Amino acid sequence: MSTCSSGKRSYNNDAIAVEALIEAHVQFDYGKRSGPVAVYQCDECGQFHLTSRGSMNPKLEQYLRDGTMEKLRNASRWSAKWK
Ligand SMILES: [Zn+2]
Repeated sequence: MSTCSSGKRSYNNDAIAVEALIEAHVQFDYGKRSGPVAVYQCDECGQFHLTSRGSMNPKLEQYLRDGTMEKLRNASRWSAKWK
């Protein structure tokens, strides 16, 4: 995996970056006003990074709205008890 001068973690493609974005919100309860909100392709390294600026990723927005995020968080907490 290449290193980018942005210092941000890089993801090979859009889908993986969105997965990481969702996962970040599962692990940390950012709510709607903080934390990473979207993914973008970097001009410098060509890979994808998370960003806290701009408009929210549609999938993340949907998950927060329709309760999927809450289910993922509950599942994550449940599984953590058994590790
Ligand atoms: Zn980059």
